Amino acid sequence: MQWESVIGLEVHAQLATHSKIFSGASTQYGAPPNTQACNIDLGMPGVLPVLNEQAVRMAIQFGLSTNSTIAPRSVFARKNYFYPDLPKGYQISQFDLPVVHDGYLDIYLPDGKMKRITLIRAHLEEDAGKSLHEDFQGFTGIDLNRAGTPLLEVVSAPDLRSSEEAVCYLKALHALVRYIEICDGNMQEGSFRCDANVSVRPVGVEKLGTRCEIKNVNSFKFVEKAIDYEIQRQIAVLESGGVIEQQTRLYDSQKNETRPMRSKEEANDYRYFPDPDLLPLVITQDTIDKIRKALPELPNDKRERFQSQYQLSEYDAAVLTASRELGDYFENTLKHSGNCQPKIAANWISSELLGALNKAVLDITESPISPEKLGGLLNRIADNTISGKIAKQIFEALWEGAASADAVIESQGLKQITNTDEIVKIIDDTLAKYPDQLAEYRQGKDRMFGFFVGQVMQATKGKANPQQVNELLKDRLKS
Ligand code: ADP
Ligand code: MG
Repeated sequence: MQWESVIGLEVHAQLATHSKIFSGASTQYGAPPNTQACNIDLGMPGVLPVLNEQAVRMAIQFGLSTNSTIAPRSVFARKNYFYPDLPKGYQISQFDLPVVHDGYLDIYLPDGKMKRITLIRAHLEEDAGKSLHEDFQGFTGIDLNRAGTPLLEVVSAPDLRSSEEAVCYLKALHALVRYIEICDGNMQEGSFRCDANVSVRPVGVEKLGTRCEIKNVNSFKFVEKAIDYEIQRQIAVLESGGVIEQQTRLYDSQKNETRPMRSKEEANDYRYFPDPDLLPLVITQDTIDKIRKALPELPNDKRERFQSQYQLSEYDAAVLTASRELGDYFENTLKHSGNCQPKIAANWISSELLGALNKAVLDITESPISPEKLGGLLNRIADNTISGKIAKQIFEALWEGAASADAVIESQGLKQITNTDEIVKIIDDTLAKYPDQLAEYRQGKDRMFGFFVGQVMQATKGKANPQQVNELLKDRLKS
């Protein structure tokens, strides 16, 4: 039997506000345990939560960036459950009336095809604290600093059909929240984490299979592996005549497997009810319009603009718009390289620069070569001062901290030899030096031509223009 996998993701993006969603306590990461949880975050008797306006603005920004409806009126609800890191006994979330709903995100699959992923909803909620198991023997530590940190939970429809599509969607979402600067996207610190719902069904069957939800996966690679493992597990169960139990499971990255955590709870287990301490959230059209005007260019728009404005391929445009910072780097480089074709700048950034950054485990914002320096190098390529080979040598010098391409060219005497007489002289010397090879060429061994080009380039230490050498050599060999 052929199986089809069906995946829907719930992503928690921590909103980049300075203070908590219902209190003034700081959201700064890494403070000593329990120094940033105030009475409101802990739900002490008699305290009143006050909604953080900035968190609401960020939810609206997200909604507008995903063609979603912004609810004119939404409601905060208490989701009741017991957990040691939730001293209130409930989490303030949104249930039947979320602030953002019914949108979509267009993603580009590795084969270049676009796929539209439906977003069911995005709602505001508070995070819980953290249970710390690792540092303690025989007991568990509780750190409540994270309690009350604002989250936007983004729920996709079950539109994804493979782990590859799921990762692609997750990356697009990750890029988007960073573009609009509502989340720092730091997956290691848990600012962007994902629950993956996975089911399988026989190909051709419309009805969805029973799903399992894999909780809190926090890297792209683990999402892919966890989903692949889960798909294979479910297929094996079904093919051996078993049934899939609806479950919440945990992914163990060390063993690369998912394990049952609990049988899946239903919404009614949580006894949701509107939080009596919070008024309904009312958002006016005027507020929405103002926020819309202030939105930056979105990833997909930038990608299309890069293709049309700079005649970049779909692939190049995708690479250069993967993050807002990378797109800015590219455009700043163009500003400093007036004569250079955008395509050439794109190539240098996506192969040479990103390759070197990758190797050094550096982000584009940490690049040792500024857009100004790279632009200066590209200018010298464009005006034929240097050959491509020498350009790579200069690139390395810039990487090591050289002041500018011009300074390197000057101090190392790397200027391309364009003087025809000079090149002809080197060609003649070379032909004289290799009479045997010349004879072979004359007898019809065409590939000796390449040998001579190589020798001439070597004699000029790569400073001749290869194309010019080709032409002049042809000319000399005729005579
Ligand atoms: P809950 O909040 O209880 O997890 P939801 O109905 O809100 O349940 O669904 C959560 C996620 O599960 C959504 O992303 C949805 O796309 C996905 N989902 C629902 N049914 C299936 C299924 N049969 N297979 C895979 N994913 C599913
Ligand atoms: Mg869920």
